[in-house]
Amino acid sequence: MKIVTLCRPCAEKLGTAYDLVKIITSAEKDTCAECGRRRYTNKYRVGGLKSAGKEQ
Ligand SMILES: [Zn+2]
Repeated sequence: MKIVTLCRPCAEKLGTAYDLVKIITSAEKDTCAECGRRRYTNKYRVGGLKSAGKEQ
């Protein structure tokens, strides 16, 4: 488990592959850990990969 700071689009993207739990809602801009842009972000706890049967 780890805590990451993500903007909403990245959280939605990662949320399709990983179990994300929002733990802190922030009203300030911060740097997104995924896209590196300064946006409004939330902090999420990242769990394991979802077993979505991804083809790779
Ligand atoms: Zn982002």
